[in-house]
Amino acid sequence: MRVDCDAAIIGGGVIGSSIAYHMAKRGKKVILLERERLAGQASSAAAGMLAAQAEMNEAGPLFELARRSRAMFPELAEDLKQLCGIDIGLVQKGMFKIALTSEEETELHRIIDFQCAAGEKAEWMSGEEVRRHEIEVSGDVRGAMFIPDDGQVSAPDLSLAFAKSAASLGAQIREFTEVKSLILEKGNVAGVMTQEDTIYCDRVVVASGFWSGRLLEQAGCKTPIYPVKGECFSVISEVPLIRSTIFSHGCYLVPKKGGRTLIGATMKEHSYDRKVTLEGIATLLERAKRLVPGIVHAEWEKAWAGLRPQTPDGLPYLGEHSKWKGLFIAAGHYRNGILLSPITGKLAADWAEGKEDGKLPMKAFAVERHSDDPIVKAGVK
Ligand SMILES: Cc1cc2nc3c(=O)[nH]c(=O)nc-3n(C[C@H](O)[C@H](O)[C@H](O)COP(=O)(O)OP(=O)(O)OC[C@H]3O[C@@H](n4cnc5c(N)ncnc54)[C@H](O)[C@@H]3O)c2cc1C
Repeated sequence: MRVDCDAAIIGGGVIGSSIAYHMAKRGKKVILLERERLAGQASSAAAGMLAAQAEMNEAGPLFELARRSRAMFPELAEDLKQLCGIDIGLVQKGMFKIALTSEEETELHRIIDFQCAAGEKAEWMSGEEVRRHEIEVSGDVRGAMFIPDDGQVSAPDLSLAFAKSAASLGAQIREFTEVKSLILEKGNVAGVMTQEDTIYCDRVVVASGFWSGRLLEQAGCKTPIYPVKGECFSVISEVPLIRSTIFSHGCYLVPKKGGRTLIGATMKEHSYDRKVTLEGIATLLERAKRLVPGIVHAEWEKAWAGLRPQTPDGLPYLGEHSKWKGLFIAAGHYRNGILLSPITGKLAADWAEGKEDGKLPMKAFAVERHSDDPIVKAGVK
């Protein structure tokens, strides 16, 4: 069967779904292709933090991208709610980035300085001040960087809201449809082949998370994305344990609706399975207890794991392939794909219209920046 459209998007995680939404909103006829269920991978495992400041210890292109994306959430939450009825659970109650040692305290002061110089809000709070806001926080906490503008959403709801809103704007969403290959002809992308049909279009966006590299090899493009497994668990308490997110090295606690607290996340590079291990949960629980001791009295809810798509320099690949016109890549968002999904969708919609965002340092995200890397060429990842 032959299908024609303006753009095919490969991958129904938060990134592909955001791209489908933003393109559909600009009147493009798009098809979103997901080989399993929508948001069945990293995008539903995520804690949903919008940690544009808590995750960024240095100034640089990722910080710029993150700030731009975080600012898009309030309007986006309204638009998605209106279009599809899903509340993405946007909460803007700030984050405490915790110092347990004097070294961490010194480091947090440096981060506060650079972020305030960049025009963001961040302030130091002593342990006592933190405990005045969050009474369950342990006496081991020396203090924290308080970030009023870092918030959170429900990651699975955000992904589904993007896809459902895209559908309401005319996008075709296909689950259980795996893209087997790209159609590449005379320097142009001409479409994709799935297990059941051929889709013809002059724009294809590869947004397949950690699996993107395999498809892109067909185009001679080296995007050595690798998985970093993360395990999480959640508990429920009658009285919510915390009001704002508590973010620390190796562990965070995120308050969710209904007295739930989400605790994440382990980090295991090059781990390809999504099994939850006792070791992972025990490690997280030890770290969480040090931050909020009362967690041990909460009721167990569930545990899960996901694969973060990481790149050699920690930056996503965003843009068009120089040798194949119309072949775009939006993958490798590592720990921040939920946060970066709105700006990624907006950029991809711009690409489809031949526009460029003059304000962002897009060179840093160039899709071929690792193609000539000798280590990558030798196949060492
Ligand atoms: C434990 C954990 C906690 C996290 N917490 C946060 C957080 O708090 N904040 C934040 O911003 N980020 C967080 N992240 C990171 C975030 O989840 C990811 O960066 C983001 O989900 C990546 O989205 P994606 O759409 O690129 O990938 P995915 O969600 O992995 O989606 C890719 C999709 O492509 C599909 N696919 C692959 N190959 C094909 C093919 N050939 N044809 C069709 N479909 C295909 C897959 O089935 C998959 O559904 C966390 C991640 C983990 C694992």
